[in-house]
Amino acid sequence: MSQALSTDILIVGGGIAGLWLNARLRRLGYATLLVENAALGGGQSLKSQGIIHGGAKYALHGALTGASEAIADMPRRWREAVAGQGELDLSGVRILSEAHYLWSPGSLAGNLTSFFASKAVRGRVDQVKGDQLPPALQHPKFKGKVYRLAELVLDVPSLITRLAELAGDSLLAGHDIKPLLENGELVGLQIDGREIRARRIVLSAGAGNAELLAALGVEQPRQQLRPLHMVLVKGRDLKPLYAHCLGGGPKPRITVTSHPAADGQWVWYLGGDIAEADGVARSEPAQIAAAQKEVQQLLPWVDLSDARWATLRVDRAEPAQSGLVRPDNAFLADHGRLLVGWPTKLALSPDFADRVIAALERDGITPGESATLLPALPRPPLGEPVWEQLLP
Ligand SMILES: Cc1cc2nc3c(=O)[nH]c(=O)nc-3n(C[C@H](O)[C@H](O)[C@H](O)COP(=O)(O)OP(=O)(O)OC[C@H]3O[C@@H](n4cnc5c(N)ncnc54)[C@H](O)[C@@H]3O)c2cc1C
Repeated sequence: MSQALSTDILIVGGGIAGLWLNARLRRLGYATLLVENAALGGGQSLKSQGIIHGGAKYALHGALTGASEAIADMPRRWREAVAGQGELDLSGVRILSEAHYLWSPGSLAGNLTSFFASKAVRGRVDQVKGDQLPPALQHPKFKGKVYRLAELVLDVPSLITRLAELAGDSLLAGHDIKPLLENGELVGLQIDGREIRARRIVLSAGAGNAELLAALGVEQPRQQLRPLHMVLVKGRDLKPLYAHCLGGGPKPRITVTSHPAADGQWVWYLGGDIAEADGVARSEPAQIAAAQKEVQQLLPWVDLSDARWATLRVDRAEPAQSGLVRPDNAFLADHGRLLVGWPTKLALSPDFADRVIAALERDGITPGESATLLPALPRPPLGEPVWEQLLP
């Protein structure tokens, strides 16, 4: 039997984009409902490395790109939120590292010179040595240069948990989603038989957006999926390391983040160039072998004799761009009552929410005019960190 419910804003997808937006809208006084068909954060968000980019990585080729400018304010906004003083109260979210590091193992001076000349990084990068080095690099055999970037790294599981708390009773586990039409016009969604009317519907379902758009008969925007083949390693000798290790090209050869596992050990999560094209083409054993070779070459003093390895194939979902290039900002498109987008990076979720809020303001959608009291609804579960799933 269908129950008629109504809300101001109905959000589909409980990854970082939907959860952050939901929390911001609630704080502004909007009635919201967020529908998730699997587990909160369980799409790309809990598989991300948690780096709150400030754009430095994208300035590696020396040019100040759109990405460098748009993203430059993100570390400040996240820091304030985590300190409980920002646009959201994210106190309790764990900061894994106050900084991300750039690490050049060889003589890459030419590359770095143009990098440091770029406006995006000037004044935000300091060279570190000795006991200021990340713990995993503090070894007499370590050679190379390390620079500290003003980009923090967050523990994404604690972030998703906090945002789920801020969602209060606005979360709904729902699987079968159909358009709710009135005189041929979209006025809400039917979710597992419940009719939910909304003044605006926001699709923030990551890779699920394409299917939802198809179900709603909407052709644009188109989605692109960028496949990655990440590597995880867990071992007793691993110490925390958050760094882009530079190769010769504009992309980091390897990007390492470190995540605390439930058993007290650290898990290194390896992305960057190794996880892209060549890595995607490799089988799982070949990808592990490639990662072992990289780690042994770069960090020969780390004892990996008891280490356990795993790989993870995952797609990044983004708006379609020519040549699978990386989009520069959060992306939002609107079709009347329907808004759809991708943050394109976890770090850009605040930008995604800004864009939705700007669209609501433009259309005169103010908080609290149409909500009904919601009954108790089935709540979606929290997703599990990938390192607990793959290397328990
Ligand atoms: C390996 C990897 C590493 C990354 N590292 C970083 C990083 O260090 N820093 C950074 O800024 N970004 C990083 N990113 C990018 C970042 O993870 C994504 O941009 C971000 O998480 C996308 O968030 P989202 O909420 O749009 O999507 P998702 O997290 O994928 O969430 C979408 C949600 O929608 C749900 N859903 C799907 N279909 C439906 C449906 N029909 N009905 C209801 N719910 C549905 C899914 O179950 C999911 O929970 C990384 C990405 C990957 C893959």
